[in-house]
Amino acid sequence: MRLLPQLTPANEWFWTSGADGRLRIQGCDDCGTLVHPPVPICPNCRSRECAPAEVSGRGTVIGFTVNAHQWLPGFEPPYVVAVVALAEQPDVRLTTNIVGCAPDDVHVGQEVAVRFEQHDNVWLPLFEPTGGTDPVDRVGTPSRPVPRPPVSGERFEHRSVLSGIGRSALGRRLMVDPLSLTVDACLAAVADAGLTLADIDGLSTYPGGDGFGGGMSEGGVTAVEEALRLQPTWINGGGDLPGPGGAVIAAMQAVATGLCRHVLCFRTVWASTHAALRLGGGGGVGGGGRVSGMFEYRAPFGAMSAANWIGMNANQYFHRYGATRELFGAIALNGRANAARNPAAIYRDPLTMDDYLSARMISSPFGLYDCDVPCDGSVALVVSAVETAAGLPRPAVRVEAVGTQILERVSWDQGTITHEPQVLGQAAHLWSRTSLRPADVDVALLYDGFTFNAVSWLEALGFCGLGEAQDWIDKGRRIALDGELPVNPHGGQLSEGRTHGFGFLYEAVAQLRHEAGDRQVADARTAVVTTGGGTPSGVLLLQRGAA
Ligand code: ZN
Repeated sequence: MRLLPQLTPANEWFWTSGADGRLRIQGCDDCGTLVHPPVPICPNCRSRECAPAEVSGRGTVIGFTVNAHQWLPGFEPPYVVAVVALAEQPDVRLTTNIVGCAPDDVHVGQEVAVRFEQHDNVWLPLFEPTGGTDPVDRVGTPSRPVPRPPVSGERFEHRSVLSGIGRSALGRRLMVDPLSLTVDACLAAVADAGLTLADIDGLSTYPGGDGFGGGMSEGGVTAVEEALRLQPTWINGGGDLPGPGGAVIAAMQAVATGLCRHVLCFRTVWASTHAALRLGGGGGVGGGGRVSGMFEYRAPFGAMSAANWIGMNANQYFHRYGATRELFGAIALNGRANAARNPAAIYRDPLTMDDYLSARMISSPFGLYDCDVPCDGSVALVVSAVETAAGLPRPAVRVEAVGTQILERVSWDQGTITHEPQVLGQAAHLWSRTSLRPADVDVALLYDGFTFNAVSWLEALGFCGLGEAQDWIDKGRRIALDGELPVNPHGGQLSEGRTHGFGFLYEAVAQLRHEAGDRQVADARTAVVTTGGGTPSGVLLLQRGAA
């Protein structure tokens, strides 16, 4: 009962390669570089002369997860999803299943060999242990990438401010039309900025339209414009942005270029009600029940969730740095302790380390409390021209810098595997656009779709060295509300709910205005906000405006 890939002229050779028992990977006829998944140009020499090349079928496990949750009917857990680095060229990886051994016997460094399993007209490359352990580190020590220098000393970031924030009710199974939640949040944000709808001349959202399916969008700009009739000068909506916060960064660009004065940005999820109504969708299943797009190389192996994709990296992180689940537990407990002070948070009851460690596993090393809370809710922000800041009813929040550069393979499994993908480059880019440094940050809003994401951002942003979070975090003391670097004072998505990025922006603005009530970080003046639980992603550095 596996989901199978949609065969096309571009991929059919790969998925049928196993018919003769041989694994083939796209190779460059000119320089010999292998690349996976196939692309119509060599990424090394940019030759267009590429053809399937036979490889040995031997490799090394560099990441794995024991999946314990049933995502697909008939695909029974537990099973192991792994990333295997090919012996010929270890930066070519296959997401696959490890078979022929007990799930608990799979480990990073395990040597494996391909074994094909035929389903209909597809030969899935699975791998089984050879009995050996690879003496070579096939991943290598990660380093901080070097971003492209700014084009000039000018910063488009300084031409706008965040002038208004608003949100709808936030909860589980609200059973409310998601567009209604969006309108609630939008009206609240516009009023908060001291504006009327007539002042709004731009709309920006993430991911827009049908989103990713699964209740991850209300319909995008089209649906909201039909409801509000703003006649915007400019619109934006899409998933190919620097994370959910990319919708705000795009709005800043529209303001900086003079196209708009006040852009309304919004993000709506109704994943909880969508699931309760059993509406389905998501997962990339297309006509004929075959999968394509980002699911083509994952769904056939039962890797249906980001818990699987990021769990593999988390186990590589554990292997490399000797970290333990108590590190992730500290993130979860910190969020829950803070959420007790946040009336809007969905889960506010205390959580102990025993609760955390004994919760059911989802996909190793992630248990229930490593995963954020699917919910219903909408968050909106207004981005306004800096010239209007003086007339705002609330303290303006300025944007010091953004980090958006893609410096790693943007794929989930072909690039950074020691951390969540797409945090190292964007973080380095952020610090290249400002003279501020991590020590200047008073409060950190770190995307925590999974606990490991927050750890990844913490290290990528340079609050501590790569692999040093467990010591640095000091059992959570350092990231507590009264600690050296308060992290996610609202509880994060782990406890407040998965508003998918925009909740962090809302909280940052509330903190910098000193309007966060019982969870206020004392005298917060600078906040870093990351949005992205995967690829691509982005980060913003915000500051309380001059009094
Ligand atoms: Zn080449």
